[in-house]
Amino acid sequence: MQGLTAEVVIVGGGPAGLTAAVALAGAGVETALIAKGPPGPDHRTTALLEGSVKALATLGVWERCREHAAPMRVMRIIDDTERLLRAPETCFAAVEIGLDAFGYNIENRFLVAALGARARELAALRLIEGDADAVEIEEDRVTVRCIGGTAVSARLAIGADGPRSLCRAAADIDVDRRTYPQTALTCNLGHSRPHQDTSTEFHTKNGPFTLVPLPGQRSSLVFVVDPAEAPRLAALPDADMAAEIERRSHSILGKIDVEPGRGVFSLKVETARRFGARRLALIGEAAHVIPPIGAQGLNLSLRGAATIGELVVAAHRDGGDVGAAVLTNRYDHMRRADVTSRTLAVDLLNRSLLSDFLPLQGARGLGFFLMERFGPLRRAVMREGVTPMASQPRLMRGEEL
Ligand SMILES: Cc1cc2nc3c(=O)[nH]c(=O)nc-3n(C[C@H](O)[C@H](O)[C@H](O)COP(=O)(O)OP(=O)(O)OC[C@H]3O[C@@H](n4cnc5c(N)ncnc54)[C@H](O)[C@@H]3O)c2cc1C
Repeated sequence: MQGLTAEVVIVGGGPAGLTAAVALAGAGVETALIAKGPPGPDHRTTALLEGSVKALATLGVWERCREHAAPMRVMRIIDDTERLLRAPETCFAAVEIGLDAFGYNIENRFLVAALGARARELAALRLIEGDADAVEIEEDRVTVRCIGGTAVSARLAIGADGPRSLCRAAADIDVDRRTYPQTALTCNLGHSRPHQDTSTEFHTKNGPFTLVPLPGQRSSLVFVVDPAEAPRLAALPDADMAAEIERRSHSILGKIDVEPGRGVFSLKVETARRFGARRLALIGEAAHVIPPIGAQGLNLSLRGAATIGELVVAAHRDGGDVGAAVLTNRYDHMRRADVTSRTLAVDLLNRSLLSDFLPLQGARGLGFFLMERFGPLRRAVMREGVTPMASQPRLMRGEEL
């Protein structure tokens, strides 16, 4: 049995946990990160919006990501529902709001590798390969025990341990859940025509079919389908899958080559009733899961990591209790509006696609019509999408902790 102490212990070495670890240790907070061994391959990509890119640059991570990431300069939405009331095609250009790009798309494996490399450079960070199996929360400390006997005691624990969070259960935090009759298939593609730094989202009656640029003549695809159709599509041989993708994308990227590595995800919303309790804070998918629509999930998680980082570093510098922001609910208050507004927006957009209710389809069409016609409205929507008013932690503004 090995007993260790730190100021903060983080459970979970996905992108959210690694970002929090780098933010805290980079500012001199003694941090322990408990992460399971190398996970299975994650072939998904993440569209990192401008604030997330700034935060990663400030943390010394972005320079390792840049060569693997493709800019998203234009976002194009095409109504492919074949319904009576359809929305007009709408194009959002980053240059309209004074940006070079809305953000960058990167394969998760490169993002996690870059975060891991930065984490290994930080003297204040102790990386522990382990599988946490118990979290004991006391009045003045929290202890995380791993299979095999290692235990870490700290003033604060951060649960970044994904949707089936052990940390969340240990703090008795309930979750509100809703599932959608939708499955997302993911894969990466090569194609014969250039994407021109444009992300294209076809809105179908089963959900979006989204192509996001990767470096070179490559793109990632998130393809939302009816769960009854998913097993057949997921099992298609590469050549048949490529033909299906080319057909559904109306050949805008020309001839398609499907790369190895497909993912299948059921779509759901999960929101923890509290983002922190006692001496435990939740970030990433331990705190909230939203459908992969509009590239919000991990961007939201990075804002969570940046917020808890900011609060903990301030308390550490003042010589105070690094768990205070959780004990006083301050962390929960700072995250609630951002998570609720993103979840509602994604839910509304998704439901308006699935719904057969004509007035809702009409309202959706009208919304896109107005955005297409009126520049100020379109620009306000773009600004809110990239830089949410509800949350701009220091790291997202490019300021060090
Ligand atoms: C199809 C799809 C496409 C997406 N596209 C985007 C996008 O374009 N933009 C965007 O912003 N978001 C996107 N998302 C969301 C994004 O991928 C997730 O928000 C993100 O991966 C969550 O990161 P995380 O670190 O919270 O969780 P995870 O990556 O799940 O990490 C949790 C980690 O905790 C570890 N762990 C769990 N339990 C323990 C334990 N007991 N002990 C030790 N370790 C433990 C796990 O091994 C894992 O490494 C997408 C999601 C999906 C499904």
